[in-house]
Amino acid sequence: MTALEQTDRVVVVGAGLAGLNAVEALRRSGFPGPVTLLGQEQLHPYDRPPLSKQVLQGSAAGPAYLRPPADYDELDLELLLGRRATGLDTGRRVVHLDDGTALPYDVLVLAVGAAPRWLPGAEGRQGVHVLRTYDDGVRLHDAVRAAGSLAVVGGGPLGLEAAASARMTGARVDLVEQLAGPMAAVLGPRLVAAVTALHVAAGISLHLATGVAGVLGTDRVSGLALTDGTTLEAPVVLLALGVVPSTSWLDGSGVELLPDGAVRCDASGRTSAPGVWAVGDAAGWQDQTGRHRRIEHWTSAVDQAATVAGELTGTPTPRGLPYSWSDQYASTLQVVGEVGPHTEVEVHPIGDGLLALHADRDRLLGVVALDARRQVGRARKLLRAGAGVDEAREAFLR
Ligand SMILES: Cc1cc2nc3c(=O)[nH]c(=O)nc-3n(C[C@H](O)[C@H](O)[C@H](O)COP(=O)(O)OP(=O)(O)OC[C@H]3O[C@@H](n4cnc5c(N)ncnc54)[C@H](O)[C@@H]3O)c2cc1C
Repeated sequence: MTALEQTDRVVVVGAGLAGLNAVEALRRSGFPGPVTLLGQEQLHPYDRPPLSKQVLQGSAAGPAYLRPPADYDELDLELLLGRRATGLDTGRRVVHLDDGTALPYDVLVLAVGAAPRWLPGAEGRQGVHVLRTYDDGVRLHDAVRAAGSLAVVGGGPLGLEAAASARMTGARVDLVEQLAGPMAAVLGPRLVAAVTALHVAAGISLHLATGVAGVLGTDRVSGLALTDGTTLEAPVVLLALGVVPSTSWLDGSGVELLPDGAVRCDASGRTSAPGVWAVGDAAGWQDQTGRHRRIEHWTSAVDQAATVAGELTGTPTPRGLPYSWSDQYASTLQVVGEVGPHTEVEVHPIGDGLLALHADRDRLLGVVALDARRQVGRARKLLRAGAGVDEAREAFLR
């Protein structure tokens, strides 16, 4: 039995990666009924990964560069752009919009993504940027070009990519990270050291194990006061401090949220409200251990959209393994499976790159490949087969 009748009205809120993919997957599964895709941005759905890469490097020729090819005629949908959902009545099955209108639904897919976290007091200060939308990317690129410098706060993948891209344009770049190394919340120590070395070699000034105590300047930022007592001169600052799910408009709707604001979902994307599903950066799906987790990766958004469409149309799709990538300079870091700072058990040089095996006792949990692209397919196979560390080592080093 499917959760969707052929004539049901599907509304997807959030015209980003997960939203567009949900619509595409529904149509691929043969759903013929009416579909509305609603998004608050003016642009058609586009891919965000190039924002911290080609857009900041100045090599993306306009928003069309970012747009995944979608044939909107073929998708046969009602596309409402520049309109924001402001409220949800799960009893009457209606979404309220910012123009006072209401959209009835039989099935609702929440694909609202997330918004950048700001430092207290920094919002609205000229020269302080975040990076989530195409407009953010163009503004930041122009500001860095004009100032010839950038200070990045946050050494996760987004901050590191932005630092690398700005440096590639010749800008002076400082990066502030409160942990002991870049991506130290995710990678093991040897890969953290390798990523650190990449950025040091490129000429980035790293300020590690220190936070931001304050943003200097009045209307316009002039620098950052760091918690280690030093001061950085900085006319352009990027805050890359993570994101907050865009779900505040769901308060009181009956859709249960997790403490971090994500929509609480079961392992297939169902929320606590009948007929309501959630996908992408705003969704906290239950994993195999029973924990609810938000995964902010491109592949996960696409994968979850396909899963929900499969559940709705009675055409289940197999789940992919968690996968993410990050491009920094000419290097690519790829992560397959589950990794964490304390699960790195072995690191092997492979060609000019490195391969880190992550395990729980003997069971392979995940693999990190730095400039070892050709090993990623093999890593997937080993993880799917439930391989042990010895078997994996033998396969990689063969
Ligand atoms: C700069 C950048 C670089 C990235 N690079 C990588 C990478 O290299 N590799 C990787 O794996 N992942 C990367 N990611 C992550 C990846 O892009 C996200 O995981 C993905 O975009 C999530 O898709 P989503 O549809 O959930 O959210 P989004 O793409 O953010 O889409 C959500 C949409 O919903 C809209 N919306 C929100 N609230 C409302 C509302 N109330 N009403 C109507 N519309 C609303 C938003 O405006 C937005 O357009 C990157 C992200 C960023 C920002």
